[in-house]
Amino acid sequence: MFGSFASSSRYPSDLQVWIARFSKSKTKADQLLIKTIEAFGDFAGLYTAYFEEIIVNGKFDKASTTEDRLRTRVLSVLNDYWAPVRRVAEQRMIPHYREILDEGTMEAERYLQALNLSDPGGLIYFDKAAVIRRFPYTNTPFIGVPYNITTEGAFAEGQSGSEEKFAYAKQDETLGFTEFAEKDWMAIPHELGHYVYWNQLANSDRLLEQHGEIRKGAAQVLSHSEPYQTLRSHEHKALTTTLLDWLEELYADVLGTRLGGAQFVESLQSIIERWAGNIDDLMENDGAHPVLYLRAFVREKALELNGGESPVDWPTLFQNRFGIQDELELEFEVVPVLDAATAASLDKEMLLAMLGVEPFPENLSVTGFVELPVTQVKTALLAIVSYLNEQISAVLASGIPVDIIDMSVVFDEMREQAEKEVERSQKPTYEILLQPQILEGGQQHAHNCWAHLTTHWMSTHNH
Ligand SMILES: [Zn+2]
Repeated sequence: MFGSFASSSRYPSDLQVWIARFSKSKTKADQLLIKTIEAFGDFAGLYTAYFEEIIVNGKFDKASTTEDRLRTRVLSVLNDYWAPVRRVAEQRMIPHYREILDEGTMEAERYLQALNLSDPGGLIYFDKAAVIRRFPYTNTPFIGVPYNITTEGAFAEGQSGSEEKFAYAKQDETLGFTEFAEKDWMAIPHELGHYVYWNQLANSDRLLEQHGEIRKGAAQVLSHSEPYQTLRSHEHKALTTTLLDWLEELYADVLGTRLGGAQFVESLQSIIERWAGNIDDLMENDGAHPVLYLRAFVREKALELNGGESPVDWPTLFQNRFGIQDELELEFEVVPVLDAATAASLDKEMLLAMLGVEPFPENLSVTGFVELPVTQVKTALLAIVSYLNEQISAVLASGIPVDIIDMSVVFDEMREQAEKEVERSQKPTYEILLQPQILEGGQQHAHNCWAHLTTHWMSTHNH
């Protein structure tokens, strides 16, 4: 166990101490945690062995600091990878947190079982917001749920909603929050939507292609949708760009609805009540998530497609709370199309900026605005929801591959990318390994190191 990591005196390890702390427990959460600590240890063993091999073969001069810098680098990378496991472990040492996290783990377990993913499971921990993260040493995702779940008030008499799960607290004095707190596990089904999106195929190389195909399919569905028959070309472009930027989040919401049902749809009501003070908040586009107003109808549509009925009357809620009528116009930002006539009218600096060669000149806005009635946008968006629902049905029918990660394969892929970089740059291996991001994911010189794996192994997703 733990490869050469735990046994090497050069890299003293206290992983056994952490394992011993949780090994008496038989809870699902603690078993998963132990498995993850062991997997980290195995990965750390491969990682340190590779660096030691470079150090030994490097025959560095006594005066050289390279050896020390390489070892510092190993420790710093491993520390980054260890931090999230340690965070889960530390939270589980606080009895009050532990109790709630156990409850969350069982909630997650119900959804994971429905997806036939009970085996890799999911490590539930507290984070500042709902998030799902993966690391190269384990196929168990880390699912962060908001801290406000811990509030005592969450168990108190509700202000809004009838079920205990949707009870609100006026104030969480223990953490100093003044916002409404809520006991709500509905972040989990959505985060699992991201997990399925990134694990719908066993072959990670084919996966990005698959994502491209889903995107292409969605674009086709859009162009055949009713609003597109009357849109002008720049509106067509603006709307397509905007809606396709939301694709992964839409996927996660559709899958989340299938898992969480009516409760998942209802949970958006409390998000809107907490986050949206006015129409602008409701229509704010962050470029990844559907605006809150439309998100309500996305979840409603997904529920209906799967035989449910929305527990919330959204039009009435929006009318009463925000005074929204159907005639509302949405404003979308779009970069103008670079046609021959536009190109001829631009000076060189501007043209290079539009081609993406140079940054845009300061104080110059080149984005145009397209305003579209929200009813049209909604119709087009819901066409994508139906399409994604079919895509998800197909994935669920064929089964989600549980990619049992073979650490040596993952590590070999990382190492291969590092060696390719050595070849490309013609620099000594140790110089490449000392660079940030090599063997950690991310981009180097605008080409992929193991960035294609980054999205797969290290994906982090908020909300
Ligand atoms: Zn999300």
